[in-house]
Amino acid sequence: MEKNMRLKAKKSLGQNYLVADAVAGRIVEAISPKVGELIFEIGPGRGALTSHLSASGADVVAFEIDKMLAEELKQVFRDNENVEIVKEDILKVDFGAEAGKRGKKNYKIIGNIPYMLTSTIILRIPWEAGSTVAVIMVQKEVADRIVTPVGETNCGLLTVFLQSYLNVERVLKVAAGSFRPRPGVDSAVLRLAPVRIKGAPADKKLYFAFLKKAFSMRRKKLRNVLFRRDAAAKREGVKRLETLSGVDLSKRAENLKLDDWFNLFSSYVEMG
Ligand code: SAM
Repeated sequence: MEKNMRLKAKKSLGQNYLVADAVAGRIVEAISPKVGELIFEIGPGRGALTSHLSASGADVVAFEIDKMLAEELKQVFRDNENVEIVKEDILKVDFGAEAGKRGKKNYKIIGNIPYMLTSTIILRIPWEAGSTVAVIMVQKEVADRIVTPVGETNCGLLTVFLQSYLNVERVLKVAAGSFRPRPGVDSAVLRLAPVRIKGAPADKKLYFAFLKKAFSMRRKKLRNVLFRRDAAAKREGVKRLETLSGVDLSKRAENLKLDDWFNLFSSYVEMG
């Protein structure tokens, strides 16, 4: 595919192209593409993943922000009836609406995405009601953090939030040498599938804001992060929240289990 495409990689768009075709094949395998199902690809670049997706017989809609690349890709895939290239900024794309336009409710998401968009895109996934699975390439360290079991030292805001709604799994490590230009870091591919966990907050926005606050000073005890009022009011607040939630607030954010987070959040909201 790439030999037809001589465009210079743009750093500002995070254009590090996957050149290891076997790796591209394994990434696509991780999404188990099936004939006729709808797959949205984010940032197809030079089509490394797109060509494997196309070969699977799935209906592929690939959103590429770079006009020149999108034009080239349209040429490359002009005879592939199951591939649609859309020149668009992924941040403006509503997957649910795009699926609806094509008469579908469910879809899969795949992307070797620019690292500056990682958090924005990954954080959208719990809201994607129609997504049955997402396979996303991220920086290796980010992947490690996201898959860390909740309650272990490396866990953070992304870990807790994502694992409250998704089953997260690292399916592949990808060395920097698999890309051109070669990035400064290694990568990993995550598979994120929706999961219903009893007690997971329905108000994701408020839950996220709460977790953000709780993780804002991760080395401090939660009692000092969640309550910053004068001593008497703080003592009272801590006592009430501990009684309501059953969570020991002398712990740090990284030490809480998922159930603790659900209880703590609902009690915190209840206290107003
Ligand atoms: N998927 C290709 C691959 O594996 O070789 C390209 C990967 S490259 C890391 C990221 C791609 O995302 C580039 O083609 C870039 O132009 C595109 N891109 C960057 N920002 C984007 C955005 N906001 N919306 C859609 N595509 C974007």
